[in-house]
Amino acid sequence: MNLPIVTLENQTNNVLLELAQDVTFPLSTEMNAMIDQMRKKLEELQAAGLAAPQVGYPYKIIVYQVLEIAKDFRLDWYAALPPTVLINPSFEPIIDAGFTDDWESCLSVETQMGKIRRYTSIRFQGFDIDGNKVEGQANGYHARILQHEIDHLKGCLIPHLFRDDLPFGSIEEMKKMRQEEIEKRKGAS
Ligand SMILES: [Zn+2]
Repeated sequence: MNLPIVTLENQTNNVLLELAQDVTFPLSTEMNAMIDQMRKKLEELQAAGLAAPQVGYPYKIIVYQVLEIAKDFRLDWYAALPPTVLINPSFEPIIDAGFTDDWESCLSVETQMGKIRRYTSIRFQGFDIDGNKVEGQANGYHARILQHEIDHLKGCLIPHLFRDDLPFGSIEEMKKMRQEEIEKRKGAS
């Protein structure tokens, strides 16, 4: 089954912009199959995360991973994490840890990317596919991925979070800016 990604540019309904629905346990066979497909898609695309609305499925389900390769360009990369499913996820910021601004793009936004301000550390919770409660603390890039994916379940995408005091714009232009930033950092170290 090929799972097409819904984007702001190609959407035929408002699934990306609506509040996703709570999931009840035990999961239906259909939902288990969908989660399997989402996990496969995440690995196929080597993406950081995928939220169910991005495949047109309006439920509170996210899959995500912290890729090893990301440590080359994320200053706040701490550890790799294998593909992980989190159902009905939520988070609370650890306010004292402050904010971090860093680049984000999104599979559902084909034309824009930019820097997004996120909480540096969060406490998150949710459920695994068997309905067991999962909770923990995430820091840095890991926390960023979780906030991005959980935002998808509230209909919030990166263009909603672009700010005048941080760069955003066309993917081409922003990739260039990001590359320059990485080169500069390498030169400085
Ligand atoms: Zn996204």
